[in-house]
Amino acid sequence: MTYDDNNIFAKILNGDIPCDKVYEDEHVLAFRDIAPQKKTHVLVIPKGRYTDIVDFGSNASPEEVLGFYKAVAKIAKDEGLTTNGFRSIANTGEFGGQEVPHFHMHLLGGEPVGKMVG
Ligand code: AMP
Repeated sequence: MTYDDNNIFAKILNGDIPCDKVYEDEHVLAFRDIAPQKKTHVLVIPKGRYTDIVDFGSNASPEEVLGFYKAVAKIAKDEGLTTNGFRSIANTGEFGGQEVPHFHMHLLGGEPVGKMVG
């Protein structure tokens, strides 16, 4: 999949569209999902142009990959998700139900999340 520079998360990254930001550093931006599916629903995205988790894992630099997972851990702790647990999801491609073609990880919690696959 080639990266679409007009996808909605690219527009959030370049400032064309606002977001409810929870964290930002040189590698990562995290913001609240516009349609939260649980009490806490945060999206964590790399700043680089990666379509999905496979593109990210294949082509991102070690610094980007490390920065991404360090940020996920920090956000999970800062959001209070580590006390009772949470779910991280990276939907990928058509069968995975991915809607936005910029790699993102959902962090869902703040209440029981339910069955793994609904
Ligand atoms: P996915 O189906 O894994 O691609 O998830 C895309 C997510 O992006 C959905 O949960 C949407 O609610 C969310 N979303 C779409 N547009 C925005 C936006 N402008 N700000 C925050 N979240 C968004």
